[in-house]
Order: sequence, then C-alpha cells, then structure tokens
Amino acid sequence: MPDGTIRPDMTPADTPAPGTPEPGPPAIRPPRTQPREAGISAGWQAWRFLGIAHAGGLVIFIVMMAGFLWYVSHIEKQEQRAALLRDTDWAQQSLKLSLRELQEHLARVAPLWLGDGPPAPQQAATRGMPRVPRPAGSDHPSGSSPSQTPAGFLAIDDQTRYLALISTSGQVRTVITAPGVLVGQRLEAGEPRQDGAVEVLPGFESTPDDAPRRLAWRASIHTWKPHYSPPLMVPGGEVMTELYLPVIQERHLVGVAVVGIGLEALLQAVLPENLRQRYRFALVDGNGRLLASTSSVHRIDASTAHMLPLDPPGNGLMLRAIPYAGDTPGLAERLTQLGLFTLATISVLSLILLWRSAHDRLRVESERDRLFELSQDVFCTIRPDGTLVRGNPAFVEYFGKDLANTRFWDHVYPEDRLDVIEAFTTPQERIGPLECRVRFRNAWRWLSWSISVDTRSPESLYYAVAHDITGRKLVEQALTTEATFRRAIEDSISTGLRVIDNDGRITYVNRALCQILGYPAEELVGQLPPYPYWIPEEYDLNMAHLNMTIAGGAPPSGIQTRARRKDGRIIDVRLYLSPLIDDQGQQAGWMASATDITEPNRIRAELEAAHERFNTVLNQLDAAVSVVSPPPPAVPLAGAAQAPSTGPEPTLMFCNYHYHRLFGDDINGHLALLRGWPVADSWVGEEVYIADVDRWFEVRTQQIRWVDGQVAQLLVATDITALRPIRERQRQQEEQLQQTSRLVTMGEMASSIAHELNQPLAAISNYATGLIRRMQPGSPAPVDNARIAETLDKIARQAQRAASVIQRVRDFVRRQTAEQRDISVDEILTEALALAEIAAKRYGVAITIDVAPDLPRLSADRILIEQVLLNLLKNAIDAMRGQNHAALTLRVNTTGESVVFSVADQGPGIADEMKHRVFEPFFTTKNEGMGMGLNICRTIIESHAGRLWVEDNKPRGTVFRFTLPVNREGAADAEGTKEAENAGDTGRAG
Ligand code: ADP
Repeated sequence: MPDGTIRPDMTPADTPAPGTPEPGPPAIRPPRTQPREAGISAGWQAWRFLGIAHAGGLVIFIVMMAGFLWYVSHIEKQEQRAALLRDTDWAQQSLKLSLRELQEHLARVAPLWLGDGPPAPQQAATRGMPRVPRPAGSDHPSGSSPSQTPAGFLAIDDQTRYLALISTSGQVRTVITAPGVLVGQRLEAGEPRQDGAVEVLPGFESTPDDAPRRLAWRASIHTWKPHYSPPLMVPGGEVMTELYLPVIQERHLVGVAVVGIGLEALLQAVLPENLRQRYRFALVDGNGRLLASTSSVHRIDASTAHMLPLDPPGNGLMLRAIPYAGDTPGLAERLTQLGLFTLATISVLSLILLWRSAHDRLRVESERDRLFELSQDVFCTIRPDGTLVRGNPAFVEYFGKDLANTRFWDHVYPEDRLDVIEAFTTPQERIGPLECRVRFRNAWRWLSWSISVDTRSPESLYYAVAHDITGRKLVEQALTTEATFRRAIEDSISTGLRVIDNDGRITYVNRALCQILGYPAEELVGQLPPYPYWIPEEYDLNMAHLNMTIAGGAPPSGIQTRARRKDGRIIDVRLYLSPLIDDQGQQAGWMASATDITEPNRIRAELEAAHERFNTVLNQLDAAVSVVSPPPPAVPLAGAAQAPSTGPEPTLMFCNYHYHRLFGDDINGHLALLRGWPVADSWVGEEVYIADVDRWFEVRTQQIRWVDGQVAQLLVATDITALRPIRERQRQQEEQLQQTSRLVTMGEMASSIAHELNQPLAAISNYATGLIRRMQPGSPAPVDNARIAETLDKIARQAQRAASVIQRVRDFVRRQTAEQRDISVDEILTEALALAEIAAKRYGVAITIDVAPDLPRLSADRILIEQVLLNLLKNAIDAMRGQNHAALTLRVNTTGESVVFSVADQGPGIADEMKHRVFEPFFTTKNEGMGMGLNICRTIIESHAGRLWVEDNKPRGTVFRFTLPVNREGAADAEGTKEAENAGDTGRAG
C-alpha cells in the first residue's frame, strides 16, 4: 500500500503502536472556543476596570494634591491675614505712640519758648544738621539741649516739618520750618529769610484755607488740650496734619505750639523697614482719599487691605495696610506646585500612553488569539522529545483531544515517520518545510510543517505551524501522473515530433525524432535553420519548405523530404505541419510530426516489384485465375430451378490474362467453371469441360479474404485438355495394376484356396459316394427317402461353402470402378478376414482380433482397403509360416481424427535398413513373390489421405499400421448402423 499516493480510505489501522510512553508529559489541554472567547472579553473587561481604576486614582490624587495646595494656601492666607492684623495694629500703636511722644515732648519744651519772652528766633539749621534722637522718658531737657530749641525740636524727627508758636491772641510769634517746607500761602511771601529769622504769618486765621487750622487752634485754646487739624495739603504737595498744643505755664495758657507733621514722613519715620517691605501702609481720610503711603510702586492686592483708625491725629484718619502681592508664594511652594503639576501631567500622559499601549496590546493579543483560534492552519507546541504540549482547534481536529503520552510522529503516516523523527533528532534552529501525512477523520491528509525551536526557553520548545497541502499534493500527483503519462506517450510513439517557434528555432524534439535523425535532443534544440540534419545540397529546397510552413502554406497531406542522419545515412521523411497554439490562444510556433518512410518506401517499391512479378507470373500461367466476391451461390445445373439470390451480386474482382483470353472480363466464365458445385472452403480437382471453348479444366476453388477484407472466391482452372488422355491412361493403368495385384495376391493364395475348396468337395464326394452305395440294391443299409434328402442337404451345404469361397475370390479380383463411399470398419474387416483366415488356417496361424468399440465410419473404397488389409495379413502369415505358436493380431482403434489399423506378427521382423525398401516396387524376399504388394498398398492408403508405415513388434515380429481419415459427414447418417455393427464387432472380438 505505501506507494506514496493519497487515499482517502487510508485508515490509521496500519499505524504502528506508539512507543513506550514516557511518564510526565501532561495531557494536551484542548483549547475550547467558548472559554477562549470569554477569556478575550475578560481581558478587555480587566483592561477597562484597570484603566478606570487607574484614572480614578489619578483624579483622586490630583484632587487631593489640589486640596492640599488650597489648604496650604488658605492657611498661609490666614496666617498672612493674622500677620496683617497684627502688624497693622502694631503700626497703629507705633504711630500713636510716636505722636504721643511728640506731643509730650512738645508739651515739655514749648513753655520754654513761650514763657519768658519770646525765645530767640532760631533758624533751624535743619539742612545738613544731624538729627538728634528725641530724648526718651520724661526728663526735661536742659536749656542747653539742642532739642529744647525749636530748631532742635524739628531736627529730631523727620516728620515734624515746621513749628509755629502762636500767642493766645492768635499772633504767630515764631515759625520755624524744616528745609523745603512751605507752610502756607503767607509763608510763600515770607520765605525764611537768609538770616534765619522767622516770619510771622499775619492773617493766619483770615484765609479760608486756614479755617481747619483756626478751628483746631480754637479747640486747643478752649479745651486746653492738644488738637490735630484735618489733613492739609501744603504747597509742594505734601499732606500734613498740624498738632495744636496749648502751652500752659503755671496754670496759664501762654500760647499754642503748632507742629506740622508730614504724614508720609511720619509713616516712613515710625514704621520700621521690615514692615514697610511687607506692607504698603497708607493713611486715608474718611472719604477713602489716599493721603500718604509708604510706597506707590508695588503691585498690591487691595482686597487684602486692613484699615485701623489712627487717633491721634483722628479726624477720620485711617491707617491702611496692604500686603505686597508679589512676594506671597515662596520658591519652595512654587516648586512644589510646579512639581505637583508636572507629576500630574506626566501621570496623565503616562496613563494615556499606558492606555493606548494596553489597548493596542490587547487588540493585538485579541487578534493573535483569534488567529490562533480561527486559523485553519495548525499551531502547536512540541517538546524536543516529540510530546505534544498544546495546540489550536485546528490542531485538535487532526490530533484529537486526548493526546497524553503520545508523540508527534505517532500520528504521522508510517511511511513518513522516519523523515519526521530524523528532522526532530537533527539539531537545528528551524525545521521545515517538512511534509508528512497526518490522520484526519479516518483519512490521511498532507500537512506542510514549519517548526521553529525556541532556544531561549529552558524547555527548548518547538513551535510548529502547519497547513494542509493535500489539495496541492493531489494536484502535484495528478500533474506528475499526467506528465509521466504524457512523457510515456511522447516516448512511446514512433512518430517524431518537432516544435519550432515563429523564427524557425527548434524548441522541442521528442525521443522518436532523435531516434529517426540519430541526433541527441541537445544538438537539435535551439538550432536555427539550416538544421544539422539538412542535406547540404537540398538547403534551398528545405528553406523553401520552412518558409512555406512559417507562412502557413504547408499542405495538409504533408511534405515528403529527405534528411541526413548523424551517421550520414540518408532517410526519407514525411512531415505533417500544424500551428502550435499556446494557452493564450496565440500561435507560438509550428508543430511538425515526422515519420521515417524510408522503410515503407523500400517496402512499397519491393511490393510494386513483387506485384509486377506476381502479375507476370499470373499472366504467364497456363491456368485461368479469377476472384469473385462475394462467393456466388450454387448455380443449379441446367434444368433445375433458379434459387432466388439474396444479398449483393457477385462481382469479378480479378482475372488473369489466361482467364481474360478465354472468357473475357466476364463472371460467367467463373460461374461456368463452378458448374453449380457448392461453395466450399477448398474443393480440389474437379474436372470440368467447357463446351464454349472446347477445353477441359481442373478446377480448384478456395474461399479467401480479398484485399478489402471481404470474403471472396478464388478459382484456378488449369487447362488439362492435353493432359486428360494421359491422366485417363494413368488411371486405367493404376486400376489394372491394382487388379493385377489382387490377382497376384489370389495367385499367391491359390494353394490355400484350393486346399480350402478341397474339403467341401471331398465331403460332397463322400456324401454322394455313400449315398449311391447305399441306394444300390442289396445294400446292407438301404436308405429311405428321408435319409436321401438329409444327405442331399448336407451335400448342398458343402457346395454352398465352396461357392462362397469362390464368390469371395471372385469378388476380390473382379474389376470394378474405384468408388469411395461411407462404410463401417466392420464391412472392411469381414471380407478381408474371411479370405485371410483361409491361409491362416492352412498354416496354423491364430488370428486375434481387437477392435475398439464405437469406431467412427470411414469414407473409402471398400475393395481397395480390403486389398490392403488382406495383403498385410497375408504377409504376416507368410512371415510366420512354419513357425510354432504363430500368432497374428489385428487391432483397430481410433485417434478421433482417423482410424488406425495395425497388423502385428511374431515373425522374423524386418531389419531397420530394409524398412523403407519393403515399400519399393518389386522388392521381395519370396520365391513366388512379385514385390508389388506393399507398394500398391501405400499408393491406395495415400490416395485415401491416410498413411502406411512399418514398425518393430515387441518382443519380436513386425507391425504394419495404416490410418484412414474419419468420415465426418457420413458419421451422423450412419449412427444407427454403427451401433449395430459395434455390437457385432464386440462379439467377434470376444
Ligand atoms: P511379396 O509379398 O510379393 O514379396 P510385398 O510387397 O508384399 O511382396 O512384400 C515385400 C517383401 O516385404 C516381402 O518379400 C518380405 O520380404 C517383406 N515382408 C512383407 N511383410 C513382411 C512381414 N510381415 N514380415 C517380414 N517381412 C515381410
């Protein structure tokens, strides 16, 4: 069975039992589609859940971080607020304290200036004068202290811009200003003089601008308490408040000391540097108008402002503190925020990237899983020892589910197994393509495997993929069969094939053409004309043929041409040309089929010559030869009714010159020669006289197959007109010879016959003598009539006995015309034996007759066959004459085709060298013999289509045998007779 072909009915029954299974390899877990699908969706769900959780975690993280930042910023703001309140409060207190200290200081020194006469007006050398810190505590400065002078007073504090001493009557007694300070309009006219004298400001109280001042002055006069004026804008744009301090001396109001306090200078002087750097302090009036501030250049957040009333100086004056916005967040906070933001951004980005990557990966995995699940190709993993690990559903289709302890090659078709095992045991990184057959639903299918070895894994697993190539294999097989078949056809046809392209280049030759031309294919393919097998003298002719072919003008009956074989022999070739159409329907060239017609040409020439000779011979023949087809039916003799003819009319197909000369081209000559004889396969030797031509013919006919295959009748009529008298004479001589031979035989038997006749004659004589004696008178034993009649009867019977012998002799030697007729063997034996027994009796030879039962009948001339038989019997008796215990055996049996007669004696026998001579004429060893007997016997037997020969008899003597053909036609007619005869034979043989 393993012939490599694919047979769907191939069952795995012939799969040998797998080798001893090794323990260990786990059962293949057959992948099931449903759970795998569920696995895929579960993967997606897990991915989704993880993604959402991840995103949620990230959102929570960002919210918490934002909350934390907000909380930190909130705490910070609260702290800032608290600091603002605290610092503002502290600034307010400081300002108040500073004003009170100023107030107290003034109160201490002013009486000095207003008490005992007016103090010497002093020009305060404020410009370039060192500031003297205000004396702390309540110690009155001594008269020598610079602060005790108005100028010294002004020099102590930056905010004190000018000092005026006014009398209770309102007369300005002294005005001292800090450098660059313009107190009022009046003061503009009364610029401090160069000498530093103080100009009194007359009409201090009369100007409308001075109304607040007057009010403050009055209030201080009336209440004896210091009062502050509402803020004033002095020339030069500086905003001031004026302290009106009543100067009391010894319980008397002596005047009012007025000090102009620059608000801005106040803020600058009182508030420490660190506060001013953190806050913008401002003084605003009740209407919110900005009067003075520590700075106006910084960006500020007005919403965080805190205001406190500042009293003194009162009059709705408010201290406002606004923290500077720019410096609020610290670097660390900024960095934290930036870090958090960056972290969140990176997290979001990485999450997105992770999502995308996971999504892509899941999608790829899903596709890969689907590929694995849905692929019609087989995927599986195999251990290096061949045990199967895992496979996809297509794999399960081929290898089944439960494959525990089976190896890969146990499932492979036995014939392919060795290849597979060899591939696995040969160390290599890749195996394949490895083609083998694997069982699939009770049939074997071809799979093509590509196997990669994963050398990185500790197990060195084999990853195998296979696809079904059964269809391809079938096609390949069919193609191979087809190609082999076509090649076999091409190689086995005796017609040479040659293909040339449209340029005349030979593109293909088959084996037969190579054999015809004697060139190997490689010496022909690729050749352009002139081709190597062209005869140089016939280039032009061949070129013309080729051009005619390419032009499509080759005759359909083919072109006969000559070619020179490689061995130089010139051959005749017939070319048939046809266009070669390729699979596109385009003509790709020309196909020529070439036949070597050298031999047919030679045979034809020979045949023609033979035909010529044949015709010559036939025409020279003395015989008339004619062929008629179909064979004519029997033509009735003259006077008989014409049988209606059916079928086609017989036609004269052929006649030779002799026939033509005698009968013309006319079928009647043929029919006349037949003379109504039935058509037979072969009919020999009828002599026919044709009156029209006055000639005798020996006519032979034979049924033949004519050249067209039809049954025909060949008739050969040999003119025997001249031979006929000779033949007649020959026949007569033959007959006479046979007659003579019989006479001779009888002559040779004469003494025996005479002896045979002597007995009845003697008996007759005795009876007659006895009767006469007894009838004489006086006879001692007279006879009565009855006794006479009885004796006469005996005499008559003896006479009949003698007569029958004579009759037999007479019959045997009587001359008669030769005639073959249907006779039984018994007829022949009866007469011959009757004569032979006469001689046998005489010489004391016992004759044994052994005739086989159911012998067929014969067609023969009875007398002639009797003659032969008697001759053989007589010779046998002669040979044993004078011999004791002489025994002669006559046997007759049949071979089916012929009847065999054998005459065996126990005489001296015939020497081998004499055996052929005994049949020669006139050969005899007997004194009285003529030596013609056996010669004539052989002629007779052969004329009956039989054979006569001699053999040695064992242990001694001679056997003469002759055969006669069975008469098939007469057998049926004489069936009944034969049975009767057989009964008689059997009786005699016994
Ligand atoms: P003829 O009997 O007149 O001699 P045949 O032709 O019958 O002539 O026989 C030729 C010779 O063949 C005989 O003379 C004899 O020598 C020999 N011959 C024939 N028959 C026998 C026989 N049965 N045994 C021995 N010799 C035989």
